[in-house]
Amino acid sequence: MIDKLNRNIEYLRISVTDRCNLRCVYCMPEEGVENIPHDEILSYDEILRVCKCASKLGIKKIKITGGEPLVRKDIVSLIRDIKNIRGIEQVTLTTNGVLLYDMAKDLYEAGIDAINVSLDTLSRKKFLKITRRDDFEKVSMAIDKLVDLGVRVKINCLAIKEYNFDEIVKIAQYSKDNNIDVRFIELMPIGYGKIYTGISNEVILGLLEEKYGQFEKVKEKRGNGPAVYYANENFKGCIGFISAISHEFCETCNRVRLTSNGFLKLCLHYNKGIDLKEPLRSNISDEDLTNMIHDAIKNKPLGHNFYHDSDMNNIESKNMVQIGG
Ligand code: SAM
Ligand code: SF4
Repeated sequence: MIDKLNRNIEYLRISVTDRCNLRCVYCMPEEGVENIPHDEILSYDEILRVCKCASKLGIKKIKITGGEPLVRKDIVSLIRDIKNIRGIEQVTLTTNGVLLYDMAKDLYEAGIDAINVSLDTLSRKKFLKITRRDDFEKVSMAIDKLVDLGVRVKINCLAIKEYNFDEIVKIAQYSKDNNIDVRFIELMPIGYGKIYTGISNEVILGLLEEKYGQFEKVKEKRGNGPAVYYANENFKGCIGFISAISHEFCETCNRVRLTSNGFLKLCLHYNKGIDLKEPLRSNISDEDLTNMIHDAIKNKPLGHNFYHDSDMNNIESKNMVQIGG
């Protein structure tokens, strides 16, 4: 559907849980965060109802995220059911990959359209330092399995000066050897991310060109989101950059988010949005629920300004694990 700023909102990111099996330093403290009580988390039936109503408004693409979405029981069945909703053209997943190896075949058979695996390093030691868990091998094996199965894979690497500067060139090798896009995500000053220093696209591209030769910007549209892609003649995949801060893309933003406790969040940066959990649990009709979602999306904020914002009262104070990235 078209919002009041003429943007076509067709993409819904659904966080199915606020739980996670890793403790990435930029996302969570070692001890974890206080979890939302189970009875406040939307059930699969409730999520499916929201998806059905949203699809009537022109939402075509759904991304399942978390916390870590694969820790939620029976997640494959939810993905299968969302895939079967009329009007939904694409269901994709963002995961840390720890539980992916064993679930890869079921996800493939459920019809998953693509899987984004978050991976910031190829070093087991560094992985342990960044995520506070010794699970690198599991993630690496899962990526290989997805490639074998023929599932579309993207690797999302959060580039942080303090942790993985010297991993950037290595991780890009995935795109050289396989038809996998490696995307470098710019660090956002949200939650624990505020403590660290991001690495700019220009610096990353410079490092890659030094090692692999020239990269050309890809002109055709690639993917559903704001990533800008570059190709190199010796690479099978592309290198992408997602830079919410330095290359702000609010004017073309096509997405809204549903948090695990049913808050329809209209912009990553703001806590603006509406609660859908209470209406869902008060027997609201499908028509009224669809209208509620419509009216909220219509009023999606213009955009964010992470570093200079006058609207301080509405700034999001949660961590990424609670929002879903
Ligand atoms: N657990 C899943 C995963 O790691 O892919 C899904 C949720 S996680 C919050 C989604 C993405 O948010 C991850 O790729 C992670 O790197 C990214 N992320 C976390 N904190 C961030 C921050 N401060 N700035 C930018 N991206 C961040
Ligand atoms: Fe968990 Fe993803 Fe946050 Fe890492 S980035 S702690 S894997 S939710």
